[in-house]
Amino acid sequence: MTAPDYYSVLGVPRDADADEIKSAFRRLARKYHPDINKEDPDAEEKFKQLGEAYAVLSDSSKRGEYDRYGRVADVPSGVSDFTGGLSEIFEMFFGVGAARRTGPRAADGHDLRMDVTVDLKEVVAGTKRTVELDRMETCSDCNGSGCAPGTEPETCPDCGGAGVIVQVTNTLLGQIRRSATCARCGGEGRVNQEPCPRCDGRMLEKRRARIEVEIPPGVENGTMLHLPYQGDDGVSGGRPGDLYVGVRVKEDARFARDEHGLLTQVEISFPQAALGDTLVIDGVEGEFELIVPPGTQPGQEFRVPSQGVPRIGSRERGDLRVRVNVKVPKRLSEYDRHLLEQLQRSLNGERPGRTGKGFLEQFRETIKED
Ligand SMILES: [Zn+2]
Ligand SMILES: [Zn+2]
Repeated sequence: MTAPDYYSVLGVPRDADADEIKSAFRRLARKYHPDINKEDPDAEEKFKQLGEAYAVLSDSSKRGEYDRYGRVADVPSGVSDFTGGLSEIFEMFFGVGAARRTGPRAADGHDLRMDVTVDLKEVVAGTKRTVELDRMETCSDCNGSGCAPGTEPETCPDCGGAGVIVQVTNTLLGQIRRSATCARCGGEGRVNQEPCPRCDGRMLEKRRARIEVEIPPGVENGTMLHLPYQGDDGVSGGRPGDLYVGVRVKEDARFARDEHGLLTQVEISFPQAALGDTLVIDGVEGEFELIVPPGTQPGQEFRVPSQGVPRIGSRERGDLRVRVNVKVPKRLSEYDRHLLEQLQRSLNGERPGRTGKGFLEQFRETIKED
């Protein structure tokens, strides 16, 4: 049995350090924790996989073994029995546990946004990018409580835990009572006597994150990829924000794109058009040969199947159209001129009726023939 790709389960690059692995696990474990995802039947399985990936990659000797052999001889225990072992890991990470939300008000993390640029070849084949960004993550010292290690939040001395302060103003018409959110505790009723020195009580710290972004084949300029839970962490059980990655597709001067189809142009000489030839054409993924038949007309298009762009989520590719332009020489050598004049005489000889007629007359006849 082959082991799953633990790195992609956690969505981290293969050279991720211990902190990145921990923070990726923290983020995803929150997303897939069975207590939060009671309606999603896949969450339990997903959570199990996460636990296994984390158990292996967070243990340096197991990780080394996995990197070398692509699997580990014995997956750390407590993984299959995730309701026991992994819940404990989860509690350890998130302190109070996401299911019991008491105390400070939960606030969701912010969404983040960034751009990546890909070229047409990557659009066809799909690609991966490891992007780096600063985001706010749960403080690693206080695990998001905001309190200095060994301390706990206390009842706010200003509002007595109510979270609001009532102001009474005496006016000519009597008393006006106005309640306002307590400034000291921000309405939470509790304050940290000693804020965590690392995050200054803010529960989050700024960290540089590296995220592997999978860019599927077939993206367009402006496609927005959505990576759930890869934004800023929330606080006090709030949900992490999402990351939105905007895709820019670099212009390729050789091709015009029409959804899944591509159009390219090639110039050939009049003799090539008249006699036919085998051309070497630039495709997205390299050169290929195209046979143009004798009598090819200016502007004629040839359709090369499956050399266009795939549809997102499908391997099926659109076609490449090759438009043939016939070059007319601007300057002629004496010899070339001589040959062309001969050719002209020969062609006129073939169709004596056509000569001497004006352009419009010829044009009308062409229409009649159609
Ligand atoms: Zn802290
Ligand atoms: Zn207060």
